[in-house]
Amino acid sequence: MNRRPFILGAAAAAMLLGAGGTALARRTLWNPCRASLPPDITGHEIVRAAWEGLDPAQVWDCHAHLAGIGDGGSGVNITPRMLSPLHPTEYFQRLFYLNAGCAHEAPGRVDQSYVERLHNLIDGMATGFKLMLLAFERTHDAQGQARPELTAFHIPNAYARDVARAHPTYFEWACSIHPYRPDCVEALEAAARDGARAVKWLPPAMGIDPASPACDRFYAALARLDLPLITHAGEEKAVHGAGQPAWGNPLRLRRALDHGVRVVIAHCASLGEDQDEDRGRNAPRVSSFSLFSRLMGEQRYATLLFGDISAINLRNRDLAVIRQLLEREDWHPRLLFGTDYPLPGILPLVSARQLAREKLLDPAAVPVLETLREHNPLLFDFVLKRHLRAGHRRFATGVFETRHFFDRKPA
Ligand SMILES: [Zn+2]
Repeated sequence: MNRRPFILGAAAAAMLLGAGGTALARRTLWNPCRASLPPDITGHEIVRAAWEGLDPAQVWDCHAHLAGIGDGGSGVNITPRMLSPLHPTEYFQRLFYLNAGCAHEAPGRVDQSYVERLHNLIDGMATGFKLMLLAFERTHDAQGQARPELTAFHIPNAYARDVARAHPTYFEWACSIHPYRPDCVEALEAAARDGARAVKWLPPAMGIDPASPACDRFYAALARLDLPLITHAGEEKAVHGAGQPAWGNPLRLRRALDHGVRVVIAHCASLGEDQDEDRGRNAPRVSSFSLFSRLMGEQRYATLLFGDISAINLRNRDLAVIRQLLEREDWHPRLLFGTDYPLPGILPLVSARQLAREKLLDPAAVPVLETLREHNPLLFDFVLKRHLRAGHRRFATGVFETRHFFDRKPA
């Protein structure tokens, strides 16, 4: 939810709407939210092949966002700017976001519709598949106090937990806890008792410097509880917050790794640039992905550092990154499948056609994928990633069978 084309897409929509192009915008940018799949697609060879060789009960989408506007007693909170057409970027962001989850036309029950839509989509996956819902912490200041006025949106842990608990055959959940909170360790222990499978951070927006000693007691607790930390690294555009882009630098995660924390870098840091801090204060900026690669190559992190493949297929990503992720088979045991739902449901963000042009997909898969996306963005993202290829190389089945990664070792 923090990607440049999100804003570009919103701007494009605003332009179309402003020019009286509502109908056109609806056709080209809005996801039509169709529910069930046509039978010729469900049984299509391309879809069946995607499940072949996998145990669906081991396939967990480790990166999916819970969203809403707080109309269902969920405790969800979003910035008032996102509710006002006077702030068109945020306003259209919210429309896109909720439309991607197909909850936009349900006054009074947007939160509930978002979850019901997820049930519906998971029913379209093979039985046993589960999705991990991510909570989303508020922005905090250096003293560990919540700063609601800097928080773009807040998805409380209790809400993610309760949605997951209500439907354990569909969902797992991950908590989100700010490490500067005075009660961060107690909150983490409580979340672990309540079944949280991981912790999710978006450091620049939440106001977290992963390299700060203020994180140490949280890291020690994560290592002790064997809970993985899924954290965004690389560029972060759309979620406004504490505004410290340098805190997204992958190198700053060494502090967590050195505490023995299992760290999952979201999207393999596939977007943006960061300063090469290993080369000093005035070092040049390099691609965030190259810093992710450097960390992946450091032997002492071989059993601790991982990457998720959510959002790597968005249009704004460098295709060379996808190619490298496919080719680096030695990394595959350390890559985890995730969709970054609802992003795959946002029509302008992913282009199967472009991937086929670049020989990363069989062109025969394109029409099937385009139909899938209109009906089921989860299945779309899964089938697409199962079919991605660089020459004869594809993602290993283990990339998709992520469940075991979230089993905690007994202390
Ligand atoms: Zn995400």
